[in-house]
Amino acid sequence: MTTLSLPSVRGKLTHNAPLAPLVWFKSGGTADWLFEPRDVADLQDFLAGLAPDVPVMALGLGSNLIVRDGGVPGVVVRLGKPFAKVENVDEVTLECGGGASGILVSSTARDNGIAGLEFLRSIPGTVGGFVRMNGGAYGREVKDVLVDCDVVIRSGEIVTLPLSELGYTYRHSDLTDGSIVVAARFRGHAGEPDAIQAEMDRISAAREASQPLRSKTGGSTFKNPDGGKAWELVDKAGCRGLAIGGAQVSEKHTNFLINTGEATSAELEALGEEVRKRVKDMSGVELEWEIKRIGRL
Ligand SMILES: Cc1cc2nc3c(=O)[nH]c(=O)nc-3n(C[C@H](O)[C@H](O)[C@H](O)COP(=O)(O)OP(=O)(O)OC[C@H]3O[C@@H](n4cnc5c(N)ncnc54)[C@H](O)[C@@H]3O)c2cc1C
Repeated sequence: MTTLSLPSVRGKLTHNAPLAPLVWFKSGGTADWLFEPRDVADLQDFLAGLAPDVPVMALGLGSNLIVRDGGVPGVVVRLGKPFAKVENVDEVTLECGGGASGILVSSTARDNGIAGLEFLRSIPGTVGGFVRMNGGAYGREVKDVLVDCDVVIRSGEIVTLPLSELGYTYRHSDLTDGSIVVAARFRGHAGEPDAIQAEMDRISAAREASQPLRSKTGGSTFKNPDGGKAWELVDKAGCRGLAIGGAQVSEKHTNFLINTGEATSAELEALGEEVRKRVKDMSGVELEWEIKRIGRL
């Protein structure tokens, strides 16, 4: 990859960029290349000029990722400030940049009297990550509020995909790794800013009480299996507090793994696999990873 010739860009392109500081777990290797585009056209030109066999993936706040210790091949695209705008399109619809945070989206919705987007207040991540993961909390998920999204595909073309083309199921969309969500339109319904703020406060307080928000973590580790709760299965299998090296199953919420200090990504992943094994032995249920594990072992 060192000899790779890359198209020239107006944004920032960094070789061997450490990813640990950019992800919640604070572990893992480097990106062969990290690209922070200046704007949509910069991203499009770069992808159009990049050899088609070079892998590309988007990175948001890294709140649902284990970056493996061997680093990530190809190009990691991170949407920064130029992609973080949120504006209203009409009384109940917001146009959100792919790099905008859930906090910015929900507070702009409140300021514009748009209810129904409060749940985004509690999910740490960017609009691109929410759209890709069908992020959700407190009974709502992206598929309930998304109108459509603009996606720069691997060829550099930009396409607008309506909700019906995203193939949403629980914490899943059909978007592929090389596709970068650069904007999305979310629709809520008319509401009173004070009531919206009260709902955001209620959600934040519930979060604070139940999740290790101040830890180096990656959110829900496993998807809830049909008709069950992943945290309950993990707890029943005796895994609360289980540790491998610096990686530990949270004592506060058993579907969260935490990096207690200097955990490697290999330790975090090995712990997750050990939990899956113990749950399978105890209950017969095969837990499926919700956290995405990326890069070279
Ligand atoms: C404390 C904590 C609590 C959490 N609670 C919840 C919760 O309640 N509900 C929930 O759903 N999730 C939760 N999560 C997980 C996480 O916040 C969500 O999955 C979020 O959608 C990830 O957003 P991100 O931008 O950080 O994406 P990343 O973690 O950076 O990436 C996740 C995936 O999205 C892709 N992606 C990121 N940006 C883009 C883009 N612009 N275009 C295309 N693909 C992109 C990445 O390639 C990767 O495949 C929690 C995480 C933490 C740490």
